[in-house]
Amino acid sequence: MPGRSVRIARIAGIPVGVSPWWLIIVGLITWSLGAGYYPGEVHGITTAASYALGLASALLLFASILAHEFGHALVARRVGVEVEEIDLWLLGGVARMRGQPKKPGDELSFALAGPAVTTPIAAIFGVLALALPASAPAALRAVIRYQAEINLLILGFNLIPAFPLDGGRVARALLWQRSGDIGAATATASRLGQGIGYVLIAFGVISTLNGAPGGLWFALIGMFLVVAAKAEQVQEQVLTTFTGVCAAELMSQPAICIPPALTLDEAQEYFARYRFTAFPITDTTGRAVGMLSIDQLERTPDSKLARTFVAEIADRDPALLVHENEDIAHLLEQPAFARVGRAVVVDGEGGPLGVVSLTDIQRALRAARLHDDSNSARPVPR
Ligand SMILES: [Zn+2]
Repeated sequence: MPGRSVRIARIAGIPVGVSPWWLIIVGLITWSLGAGYYPGEVHGITTAASYALGLASALLLFASILAHEFGHALVARRVGVEVEEIDLWLLGGVARMRGQPKKPGDELSFALAGPAVTTPIAAIFGVLALALPASAPAALRAVIRYQAEINLLILGFNLIPAFPLDGGRVARALLWQRSGDIGAATATASRLGQGIGYVLIAFGVISTLNGAPGGLWFALIGMFLVVAAKAEQVQEQVLTTFTGVCAAELMSQPAICIPPALTLDEAQEYFARYRFTAFPITDTTGRAVGMLSIDQLERTPDSKLARTFVAEIADRDPALLVHENEDIAHLLEQPAFARVGRAVVVDGEGGPLGVVSLTDIQRALRAARLHDDSNSARPVPR
């Protein structure tokens, strides 16, 4: 996956980020349009005007992609799936979701929401391109024609039935609706996505070898599909394995807590002695209120360690406190848990019972896979 994205805006409460790759792509599109497309379309255009139109077209294209992703995000929100962020990156956009749709119908409307935005965009530019009289400025006609074609391409690409593209999500939703088994539907959709990915890679390599360097795009998109389809399948397996498993089943006991009145200097001893990456923090009544992580200690300048109290910098994100009966699948969807890697398991009164860590969950996942394998293919020796 590409490098870290940088937040540039917040629209309708949803953060929008751009990956550094996005700048490279804007540059490439600007260059290819400025050097090739516009000089061919607009007779006598200056180099500066040609590149300016190229840049404007690239930005307009990304506005269309952003609109497409917002289509997904707003529907996701309506069916109760939270949208963490919309990212613009190498191959367009992606709406990062926290959690999964709960019903096949939700998945279907979520998947179709993006194309439902891109279709009218492509149609409007298409109609404009056809309706503009030949006497209209050539530059205007060229700008509109490019947007019509590129939006049609985006629409077509997203409708390829390769999970996790929109078309693949539609396929998964329909399979899920028919069988009622999201795990099996995901596995089939993911295999289909990987298969199409490999076909695109082969096509890209063959056309490149035959002297068409544009084929590299197909290979790149194919690789993206293979990796993304596998990742979605693994995520689905993890969620399936841990749905119905509660936090108390996987926690390590006892919960070793750091009292809030200690200074960071004193708290360091806990990290040295137990070698955990984070500890629960309690209040004066003994209830858990958050976590203190080794990252937070490392970020604090040495000169402040003796003067800062644990209670002042504890991470009080409520997602780091998990009720003993809460589903592990739910915890795995929490960004705070991914960030800290540990959460404190509490009883009804907020008393710390234990700690559940990513390592605990990974161990359980490996054990579950072992169990699955021995149940299915391999004969058990007597
Ligand atoms: Zn989409």
